[in-house]
Amino acid sequence: MDEKQIEIRKKLKKKLDTARYEHTLGVAYTAACLAMRYGADIQKAEVAGLLHDCAKCIPDEEKLQKCEKHHLPISDAERKNPSLLHAKLGAYYARQKYGITDEEILGAITWHTTGKPEMTLLEEIVFIADYIEPDRDRAPNLEEIRTLAFTDLKTAVGAVLAGTLAYVGKRQDALDETTVAAYEYYKRIGELV
Ligand code: FE
Ligand code: FE
Repeated sequence: MDEKQIEIRKKLKKKLDTARYEHTLGVAYTAACLAMRYGADIQKAEVAGLLHDCAKCIPDEEKLQKCEKHHLPISDAERKNPSLLHAKLGAYYARQKYGITDEEILGAITWHTTGKPEMTLLEEIVFIADYIEPDRDRAPNLEEIRTLAFTDLKTAVGAVLAGTLAYVGKRQDALDETTVAAYEYYKRIGELV
């Protein structure tokens, strides 16, 4: 492991609770495996996985305040459900506090929660790794998605988005438009294959 990753891990450990830190390691390792499988940059996948939830343990009220302070745009869905903000705030911190300048890594952090249409390979990898890492156990179709992740990444992304929409719909939370757009895009892609 290079110096930079060791630094990132030390810092993260102080910012995250134990469960979140373990989840983070799981996402980093899973993203690295998916990068091997699909020919993406393994180091970048690992770093994006490590940092994807770096802003997760900040209280929601504070997330809103910090986004306002740093002039990060807040959508209606994010106002109703500020937890969503950990993604863009996380990308901001990755740049400002962890010295990440690689736009691909920052994109993967930004879009890991909602997804978006036409994600890059690295974005798809982190999006899926977040869902399937070994500690995850709640999603109903997890086994199927885990297999799919290593056989057909884009179809796996579509399946996760479909599950997210169903789950959010049930809880009557604010639906993020980007997730809907992402689902429609990946569904269309799936039909073309
Ligand atoms: Fe997250
Ligand atoms: Fe996560």
